[in-house]
Amino acid sequence: MTALVIAEHNNASIKGATLNTVTAAAQCGGEVHVLVAGHNASGAAQAAAQIAGVTKVIHAEAPGFEHGLAENVAAQVIALAGAYSHILFPATASGKNVAPRVAALLDVAQISDITKVISADTFERPIYAGNAIATVQSGDQVKVITVRTTGFDPAAASGGNAALESTSAVADSGQSQFLGAEIAKSDRPELTAAKIIVSGGRALGSSEKFDEVITPLADKLGAAIGASRAAVDAGYAPNDLQVGQTGKIVAPQLYIAAGISGAIQHLAGMKDSKVIVAINKDPEAPIFSVADYGLEADLFAALPDLAQSL
Ligand code: FAD
Repeated sequence: MTALVIAEHNNASIKGATLNTVTAAAQCGGEVHVLVAGHNASGAAQAAAQIAGVTKVIHAEAPGFEHGLAENVAAQVIALAGAYSHILFPATASGKNVAPRVAALLDVAQISDITKVISADTFERPIYAGNAIATVQSGDQVKVITVRTTGFDPAAASGGNAALESTSAVADSGQSQFLGAEIAKSDRPELTAAKIIVSGGRALGSSEKFDEVITPLADKLGAAIGASRAAVDAGYAPNDLQVGQTGKIVAPQLYIAAGISGAIQHLAGMKDSKVIVAINKDPEAPIFSVADYGLEADLFAALPDLAQSL
């Protein structure tokens, strides 16, 4: 029994979500191999070989993998799939783009967004926006799995010594082409990897107020900025900051929710945070039921005070 983790990387290094996926793969009970499909990706392959618990890194090198085009990566996974009992992807935008193609091509059911490995064929996954946990048992010969990264601790990025093996790359499928990327540049930590998040809701009232009140506190704490969907829909914050069922799933050490009511769809994205601080002027706001610390206050006074006293 051997598990194959499909690495998420930028050709030079491995992205953090891969480390959590390695932990899930190790819990499936067998050896853990990692596939790095990239272009000029020896840096990423070498980094993968350092991950604790990984016994082999398979490096597939081709221009068609440079931008992680799903059709090409899926074809590469299929070329290797025969040797594996489990194939695991992080449940990120790119993992969720490739995994269903692999499952369909193998004619097996994908097991999505697992948060726990009970045994080699049985897993837990949240359903109904996290309000219920389903236990899923799969009879498929190969388990194609996406892993909710907040459900598993990251494997150590160093200390491993995996064998590094090159494999011949599959031909470019020609089905899709990379045209360009517009990547938001920020000095802040990435939302899903941040240790501290300051999140703002509809109460902020405008994008100017959002920046004026949320940003100074986030700067002081070295935090990432998040937002509720209401704040995003109203244009107070960009789309990629949305936390929740239809946004990002986060589990930082500290999550500060300011002017967020705590709708279940928002809680689905942040309730696994280690410490939750809620600032809301309504004592009945549902966010207080998941908060470790609650401050019933006007955020326009409380947040600047907090930023100033830090
Ligand atoms: P509100 O619910 O309007 O809450 C604003 C809060 O601010 C209130 O509690 C109020 O008391 C407080 N407040 C007002 N003024 C002040 C002040 N001056 N100081 C302090 N507090 C103040 N939502 C998400 O966030 N993420 C998702 O991914 C998501 N996905 C969804 C998916 C579906 C299918 C659906 C149907 C909904 C989804 N939603 C999601 C929307 C969700 O249901 C809520 O509408 C949304 O989370 C509300 O955002 P909010 O808390 O900012 O706004």
